[in-house]
Amino acid sequence: MGLEILGRERDIMGEGDSILVWRNVYRGGWGVEGREKGWDEGLVAKNCSAGGGEKEKWFRGNIQRFVGNGREVSFWGEIWVGDSTLKILFPRLFNLSLFKDGNVEGAGKRTEEGWVWDFKWRRELREREKEMEADMRSLIGGLSPCPDLKDGWNWKSAAGGTFSTKAAYEECAKAEGQHSGRYIEANAQLWTAPAPNKARVTAWRSICNRLPTCENLIKRNVQIPVEEKWCNSCVWRAETVDHSLIHCTKVDRVWDQIHQWIGIDTAKPQRVEDHFMSFIGGGRGKRNKNFLKGLWIGTVWLIWKYRNEGRFENKNWEVSNLVKDIKGRLWSWNKTFHVVESNVSFSMWCSNEYSPLV
Ligand SMILES: [Zn+2]
Repeated sequence: MGLEILGRERDIMGEGDSILVWRNVYRGGWGVEGREKGWDEGLVAKNCSAGGGEKEKWFRGNIQRFVGNGREVSFWGEIWVGDSTLKILFPRLFNLSLFKDGNVEGAGKRTEEGWVWDFKWRRELREREKEMEADMRSLIGGLSPCPDLKDGWNWKSAAGGTFSTKAAYEECAKAEGQHSGRYIEANAQLWTAPAPNKARVTAWRSICNRLPTCENLIKRNVQIPVEEKWCNSCVWRAETVDHSLIHCTKVDRVWDQIHQWIGIDTAKPQRVEDHFMSFIGGGRGKRNKNFLKGLWIGTVWLIWKYRNEGRFENKNWEVSNLVKDIKGRLWSWNKTFHVVESNVSFSMWCSNEYSPLV
C-alpha cells in the first residue's frame, strides 16, 4: 500500500524535488518505531520555498512553518498560520502589498506595548479591503515572532507537531481512505490531459476539494462576513466546490452551451470528480477523449477564474462571454497540444455548426 501511495504522490507532484524528499522519507522506514529519520532541512526548505505556494502539494500541505524570529519565513508565500498561504487566502491584499517577498519579521515591529503588525500597502485600502485586512489580522492574531527562537518546521498532523515518518504514512493512508475509487481514476486522467499546468492544477484542486471556496475557508476557521458567505453568482447557495463549478444556475448554463458545442449531453453528477469522468466518457476514441479532458479542465479553470474576478474585482460576467473565452482557450491549447487536426477557421471553431469531436 505504501508504495502505491508513493506512486500516486509522485504523479501529483510531477518530477520535482519533492520526490527526493519522499524517497528519503520512505527510506526512513515509515511505521517502524525508533528508525524514523527527521527532515532533511535543506531539501524541505528548497521544496517549500520554491514557487511560493502556488501549487498545492500534498507534501507541502502537511508541513507548516514554525515561526521563531520570523527571519526565514516568507510572510505571504509560506504556510505558517492556518492551512494555506496568506497569498492564497488573501490574493487581493497580496496584490496590494509592498513587501511581497518579505519575511514575517519584516511585517511588523516591536513596540513598548509588544508586537504590532505593520503592513505596507501600495495605496490606501478601500472599505472592502480594510475588512480583508481585519480578517487577516484576526487570522494571524496572537502570533508574533520571538527574537530568540530559530524558525523551524512542523508536521501538522503529528501530536506536538513533530515530524515522524510514521505520522506521514498515517496521513497518507488517511488521505487515501478519504478518496473514492472515482477520485483516483479521475486524478490519473487529469494529469495526462492536454492542458497547461496552471489549469490542470486548478482542476486537480477541484477534484480533491482544495479550492479556497467560502465553505472551505470557513472550515479552516477563516472569518468571512455573513453577507459574503454565499456563492456570488446566485447569492443563494453555500459556496462549495461542487456548487461553484457545476451546480450553480449560472454555471449550469455554461455547461449546457459547452454540451451544445460538442453535441453530447452527459449527466451532471453531484460531485466534481464524477462530473469529470462522465464528461470525458462521452467521447469515443482516444483523440475525442483527450479533447474532452482538456475542455473540461479549461472550463473548470475559467469558471474559477471568473468567480475570482467576480469576488475580488467586482466584475460581473456573462455566460456567453465565458463560453466564448473557453472556446478561444481551447483553440490556442490545440495549437500547442495538437489534439484535434483541424483546418477550420477560428470563427468556424467557435460556431455551433462545428463540433471539435469526430
Ligand atoms: Zn451559485
